[in-house]
Formats: sequence, C-alpha cells, structure tokens
Amino acid sequence: MIGAGPAGCLAAIAAAKAGARVTLLERASFPREKVCGCCIAPRGVAVLGDAGLDHVLHGAPRLGSVRLSSGRSSVRIDRDSGVALSRGAFDARLSRAATESGVDVLHGTSVTVGIDGAVQANSDGAEWTMQPSVCVVADGLSGRSLDAHPGVRWRVAPSSRIGLGAILPPGSIDLCRGEVLMRVEPGGYVGAVELEDGRVDVAAAVDHDVLRHEGPAGVMARWLRDAVRDRHTIDTARWTGTPWLTRRRTTLAVPGILVAGDAAGYVEPFTGEGMSWALASGHAAGLMAARMVHEPSCWREWPAQWANLLGRDRWRCGLIANLLRSPRTVHAGLAIARRWPTLAARLARPIGQPHRTSTAGHGVAP
Ligand SMILES: Cc1cc2nc3c(=O)[nH]c(=O)nc-3n(C[C@H](O)[C@H](O)[C@H](O)COP(=O)(O)OP(=O)(O)OC[C@H]3O[C@@H](n4cnc5c(N)ncnc54)[C@H](O)[C@@H]3O)c2cc1C
Repeated sequence: MIGAGPAGCLAAIAAAKAGARVTLLERASFPREKVCGCCIAPRGVAVLGDAGLDHVLHGAPRLGSVRLSSGRSSVRIDRDSGVALSRGAFDARLSRAATESGVDVLHGTSVTVGIDGAVQANSDGAEWTMQPSVCVVADGLSGRSLDAHPGVRWRVAPSSRIGLGAILPPGSIDLCRGEVLMRVEPGGYVGAVELEDGRVDVAAAVDHDVLRHEGPAGVMARWLRDAVRDRHTIDTARWTGTPWLTRRRTTLAVPGILVAGDAAGYVEPFTGEGMSWALASGHAAGLMAARMVHEPSCWREWPAQWANLLGRDRWRCGLIANLLRSPRTVHAGLAIARRWPTLAARLARPIGQPHRTSTAGHGVAP
C-alpha cells in the first residue's frame, strides 16, 4: 500500500484483517499536518465505526452548524457535519491502528511503481525493491508514484483551483466550537473550524490568478476580514498550497494495481467529503486487494465498484462547487436559506451522510 493518509491506512487495515500480509509505505514522517478542512463527515465517521476504528476520533469536537456567508449576507444552517480533527492527529492515529492490525508501516519512505509492478522504495538514501502481488496506490493529489504507467495519467480540469491552508493559534478567528465557518467569494471560498486542541484550521480553494496577485496571506486576510481577530496571525501563518484540485485519472486499475482515495481523482472540497470518500474507497480497495491475492483478474471490477461507491456524491459535490462560481446563485441561495432555514437544513442534510445500504464501502449501490 502506498501512502498513509485515510485511504492508504484503511486499505492496509482492511487487507490485513482479511488475512493478507501488508506493508504500508509513507513518504512523510508522522505526525504531519496537511492542507485540509479537517471536517470528517458523518459518512466517514460511519466507515470508521464499521471498521472498528471509532477510537481514532477520540476528543474530536462534534460539528453541529455551518455559518455560510458571502458579501454582506450570512446564514447559519444547523446540521450534523460530523467531527473536526487535525490531520496531524488523525493520520498518526490511523497509522498506529494499522500497525496494531499487523501492518508493517514504514514512514519516511518514498515509493515509485515500475511498469512491471515492482515497487522501488527510498528511505534516507537507502534503496530497495519489492515485488508485491498487489499494490494499492493511495498517494493523494500530489502523488507521482505511478508516473511510469502511461495508462494511469492525470487529467486536470482547465477551470481547476488551488488548495491553500494553515493552522492558526487558538482564538485567532471569531468562531464557536462545533461551528464550521464557510465564506464564498468571487475567486473561491474559505472554511475555518476549531480543532480538538483549540487551534483553528483554515482551508481554501482559490483561483490561481487571485492567489498570484494577492499572495496567500493577502487573499486570506481579505476573505476572512470579518472573522479574523488579529491580522498579524494571518500574515505570520505558514500557508501551504496544493497542486490543481479538480482532476481525474484515465483509469483506476491495471493488472496488480488499484488506485484509491484522492489518487483516483478529485473534485473541489466545498462539501468536506474527501476524507470520507478516501476512507470508504480505501476500505473497499483493501478488501479487493486481499481477494486479488487468490483471484488476480478481479482488478477489472475496481473502476465500476469505485464509481458505484462514490460516483453520485462526487457528482453532487462537483455540481455545488460549479454553482458557487456564480455570485448570483450564491446570493439567491443565501436569501432562500435566510427566509426558509428549515428547507435549507433539509437540503443540506444528505451531504456527507452514510449510505443507507452500506457504510463500510463494500461497493453496494447508494
Ligand atoms: C482546501 C481543502 C480542504 C479540504 N477539506 C476537507 C474537509 O473538510 N473534509 C474532508 O473530508 N476532506 C477535505 N479535503 C480533502 C481531503 O484532504 C482529502 O480528500 C484526503 O486527504 C484524501 O486522503 P488520501 O488518503 O486519499 O490522500 P492523502 O491524505 O493526501 O494521503 C496521501 C499520502 O501519500 C503520501 N505519499 C505521496 N506520495 C508518496 C510516495 N511517492 N511514496 C509514499 N508515500 C507517498 C503522502 O505523504 C500522504 O501522506 C480538503 C482538501 C483541500 C485541498
């Protein structure tokens, strides 16, 4: 398994529990933070529960409302939005759970996959090669471990935005515990949430031109102007960017290799479901990988299973992200939500919820 984010960890745990011998290789040393809104939607919480991993969410504040604003309009929508947990804590706890499930976890190890399926690993200059019977690639948006495979290319959407994020000190943003702050602006949107230790996670999707003209601190200070308590915290924060966000793979499986999580494709993160999709697809990929050890040809089923698991949610998230690009639609939506708050809550409720027939991601239709 390549990449110890939510997808790779769940894949490794599921495969190990199904009886496979698993090695999980991760480039970074943990704990590490990463650009993410840090909201784990109810569907993700349910996948973790079904996998017996509820304990990894210990101490994570519950999220009960979203404060959505644009221009001078603002509306509060009450909805179960899951929990908030820093990626430093979440990924390190998942990684530990993988070790406890019998997975051999190697951090600080960068990997590429050769065209013959051989895995080349590099840790602190030491290099070695493995020839696994199955490889699950969950190396995220910035992953390049499949670059040698001409059939598994990225297709980046021309209108794609860039992700941007930082973690600010406690109290930097005017925000209640358990509340998600979302602000939509021409050129993108930004979200903020209080983490388990009081620090504030800020994550945004920004048009490249806006970012180039104003710089990360400039654009974040402007978008968060009504909520930020001390501009200095924005100017001194360590802003980190991502590659282009909206993209898809030309294929999700080749013989011996399955692609899962963000590595399989990505839509803009407005609805905060990426980790839930990564957990669900990682879990399903791990089960399929364990099956492939005895039935190598079943890799062909993976693209259809992945689409069945995530297709509808990803389509809805993409549609919302596209609608938000029109200021007129955003203002109409906010006006409706202010006038009919119960209707707004009802429309927002299905986002990120577990599927009725499947939570752990066995590929059952939504
Ligand atoms: C601005 C923004 C806000 C977001 N907000 C939310 C939110 O609120 N809620 C939510 O659910 N999702 C959110 N997301 C999406 C979420 O961050 C991702 O969907 C999620 O991290 C995907 O998990 P993953 O395991 O697929 O990949 P990742 O978490 O990216 O993990 C991939 C891992 O692979 C490792 N890796 C990469 N290359 C190699 C290599 N060659 N060898 C070994 N290891 C490698 C990386 O170091 C990394 O640890 C947001 C994303 C952005 C950009």
